[in-house]
Amino acid sequence: MRLKNVPGAREAIADSKFVVLYPEQQKGNWAALFGNDHPVHIEIGMGKGKFLTGMAAAHPDINYIGIEKYSSVLLRAVQKQEELRLPNLRLIRMDAEALPEVFDRNEVARIYLNFSDPWPKDRHAKRRLTSGAFLARYHEVLTRIGRLEFKTDNRSLFEFSLESIVENGWRILENTSDLHHSELNDGNIMTEYEERFSALGNPIYKLIADQGAE
Ligand code: SAM
Repeated sequence: MRLKNVPGAREAIADSKFVVLYPEQQKGNWAALFGNDHPVHIEIGMGKGKFLTGMAAAHPDINYIGIEKYSSVLLRAVQKQEELRLPNLRLIRMDAEALPEVFDRNEVARIYLNFSDPWPKDRHAKRRLTSGAFLARYHEVLTRIGRLEFKTDNRSLFEFSLESIVENGWRILENTSDLHHSELNDGNIMTEYEERFSALGNPIYKLIADQGAE
């Protein structure tokens, strides 16, 4: 999702106290920023923020950080959070490639990927957020028992992800090809894309994985 350049987006983002402008400076210090030692859960590619603001409102004992590459998209999430002012939610504009520069080892307890861009061409496979290159970055920041949760309506990307996760030594804990009719749907908060695609009748796929630590 890339919206047209929105005038004033960068300024509005820079002015929000909920946006962390220099996230590398927080590496190792996220607990201090939130003022508690609650677990940190992040969403990569949060889009307009419906999922993460819903999660933060429903789970005040978890600290949430939303990551989005484009200012024009992040702006919508910033506007939502400026209204809600949830104390356990912060937002960052960055490319997820830089995750290990922003989070220390063991600083993140869960990573959410929702309706990630499919990058269907083989030559772009490394850009998929469930590719080996990204799983290696997640490994650098996740706690030993940390989890990855991934939802999509894209069957090819889901199948690629199941394979990639296992090939890279991770473990699939749960998976469904019809989330909305499965027990994994308990407590599910829909994303913008999820609402749109499920309204069209598309099944939603979901997997939960960890790094295989006992
Ligand atoms: N998660 C939202 C949802 O389900 O409604 C948005 C899905 S949209 C298809 C994917 C989003 O991921 C886009 O907003 C895109 O800018 C963002 N994105 C893609 N690659 C990214 C990356 N490497 N780092 C951060 N954000 C990324």
